[in-house]
Amino acid sequence: MKNLGNLDSELMKKLAGDCERNFVALISPETADLLTLLIECGRYSRILEIGTGLGYSTLFLAQASARNGGNVVTIERLPQRVERAREYFYESGLTNIRSYAGDAQDVLPHLPGLFDFIFMDAAMGQYLDFFQDLFPRLCPGGLLVADNVLFENLIDRDRFQVPRRRRTMQQRLREFLKLVQEHPELTTRIFSIGDGLVVCHRKK
Ligand code: SAH
Ligand code: MG
Repeated sequence: MKNLGNLDSELMKKLAGDCERNFVALISPETADLLTLLIECGRYSRILEIGTGLGYSTLFLAQASARNGGNVVTIERLPQRVERAREYFYESGLTNIRSYAGDAQDVLPHLPGLFDFIFMDAAMGQYLDFFQDLFPRLCPGGLLVADNVLFENLIDRDRFQVPRRRRTMQQRLREFLKLVQEHPELTTRIFSIGDGLVVCHRKK
């Protein structure tokens, strides 16, 4: 297997450049490290990702879970991105990735079973809706991780300082964070790395 965990590998550099040219918001190096560490420590093996983009984050998830004999299911709604991501997956040599094209909410009901690690990296205004579908699919002891929650510091800003078109998103994001922080079955922490990461552990 190629050393993908190394952010400086040729493939990861090419993929990161492709994301930047095409305005695909890829995870930060610290986020990649933390996701890898969490999967290793928890020995998670059934991974679900919402928001493949061009597959940059997916390769970290796939490599970490492969060490636990696991695999990644990843969903992306834009077909051109799915196509590009699949080329990178092929090039990586990793064979434990299943990629689906479509809106997560349409694809999810067709995916069987439970997941022990769920990574959401999509439109944060949708996290609240995703959560309703995803929580029942998260194993006890598993992690639900969501990126972008501190993007533009939306949660702390006064509603009237936020552009009108973003207010619904702000409201939904706040509701999502309140829900996971107050949820009796979850232990939740927020990390200000990358675009802001919330990590929720489902109690055993
Ligand atoms: N995780 C990737 C970047 C993802 S960017 C990385 O770090 O490399 C966010 C992606 O989520 C975009 O490509 C967008 O098309 C996708 N997305 C947004 N809403 C979605 C939905 N409802 N279902 C599936 N994909 C979605
Ligand atoms: Mg992100």
